[in-house]
Amino acid sequence: MSEELKEKLFDKKENGWKSVNEEEKKAIFDFSKGYMDFLNQAKTEREFIKMARKLADENGFRDIIEFETLKSGDKVYFVNRNKSMYLAIIGTESIEKGLHIIGSHVDSPRLDLKPNPLYEDTEMAYFKTHYYGGIKKYQWTTIPLSIHGTIVKTNGEKIDICIGEDDNDPIFTITDLLPHLAQDQMEKKLKNGIDGEDLNLLIGSMPYEGRGKDQVKLNILNILNQKYGITEADLTSTEIELVPAFKARSLGLDESMVAAYGQDDKVCAYTSLVAMMELENVKNTAVCILSDKEEIGSMGNTGMESHMFDFFISEILNKLGVNKPNLLDKVFCFSKMLSSDVDAGFDPIYASVSDKTNAGFIGKGISLNKYTGARGKSGASDANAEYVAWVRNVLEKNDIHYQVAELGKVDIGGGGTIAYIIANKGADVIDCGVPVLSMHAPYEVTSKFDVYSAYKTYKAFWNA
Ligand code: MN
Ligand code: MN
Repeated sequence: MSEELKEKLFDKKENGWKSVNEEEKKAIFDFSKGYMDFLNQAKTEREFIKMARKLADENGFRDIIEFETLKSGDKVYFVNRNKSMYLAIIGTESIEKGLHIIGSHVDSPRLDLKPNPLYEDTEMAYFKTHYYGGIKKYQWTTIPLSIHGTIVKTNGEKIDICIGEDDNDPIFTITDLLPHLAQDQMEKKLKNGIDGEDLNLLIGSMPYEGRGKDQVKLNILNILNQKYGITEADLTSTEIELVPAFKARSLGLDESMVAAYGQDDKVCAYTSLVAMMELENVKNTAVCILSDKEEIGSMGNTGMESHMFDFFISEILNKLGVNKPNLLDKVFCFSKMLSSDVDAGFDPIYASVSDKTNAGFIGKGISLNKYTGARGKSGASDANAEYVAWVRNVLEKNDIHYQVAELGKVDIGGGGTIAYIIANKGADVIDCGVPVLSMHAPYEVTSKFDVYSAYKTYKAFWNA
């Protein structure tokens, strides 16, 4: 009797794999293979946007600049300074009924080069770095790192570089102290164990022929000059990022998980992008945001706080021939959004930081965060109950596993996404993404079941 009642009344939150048959398992694994291949070619925001643009071009999308006018069914995009991108499919319904937006970010925590990065010490050459986003610094030493980025010369010439990904490339690393001599270091608090100013990348040790000061630095500059035609001053107008040289791999004997760098938030960016490529005939205009600078507060003209997104939607209104005063505000007020960013997966090794009743678990499907914020929901964008119910209905109708979770225990910490930025414009927004273990570490872990659930969720949302 009670078993029956439990079955009827309890929120079961079952492991998703239990519901998967052989055919679905194959679909999940195949999808994850595509995801991992993509990750290996898109470790930085610029690389991701380049790949996204290529995929969009192959799937009938065109730059909005190429359109004189727009009509329903048109597929458009706008690439913002090679680092963020907005895509849209014009719906059959009047745009005044609102947009269906899915917004993720394509930047991930990493180490950026300082503007004057190169120096020599004790006949070793280094690049100085300034870390980007919330990292635990000790995790970034003694691992293979690759160099990705763009050098821009004063004549406007741009050079994209990527060293350390090909098996024949050299890699780079940041050294750490041997335990034998680390007595003082080991007494420090974990957060002070590695100093930000000590995250210097080892890049060379061979002197240029001849005598004098800085011969190793000279040799490095000579290599860079021969390869890219640049001088030391050219390094000041670059965006060069150090990321782990690891490849994305299947994790576990059962291969049920993905281990990879940058899954926050490329997992949601990739799954939403692929879902958008497969859409046809949407009712509400479907919009996909791939934003930049989320990890450092969404500021600047490629971050979500900028007006670039408003500009894109205004251009759509202009080219539909419907624009009028305040229409943009009206469109946002009637819009719905999934802020597709990752959630903290419950980690039994660190169970004490999570409320098990309200945590997101890997393998249990897409995770909804009604709110984020910290300390009494401060700074949170709290989704309205009506909207949560609407999203739940979409998920349940499409038979998608989901969980509603919080980031961690009350007062333990907190976090945020781009949700509040679009919510402040008047849209209904909820955070909706994949649970991740070891978030912001050089190697992050997700469940393939959840990756596939995200893809299904985003498709269902746009088709709703
Ligand atoms: Mn994120
Ligand atoms: Mn993050």
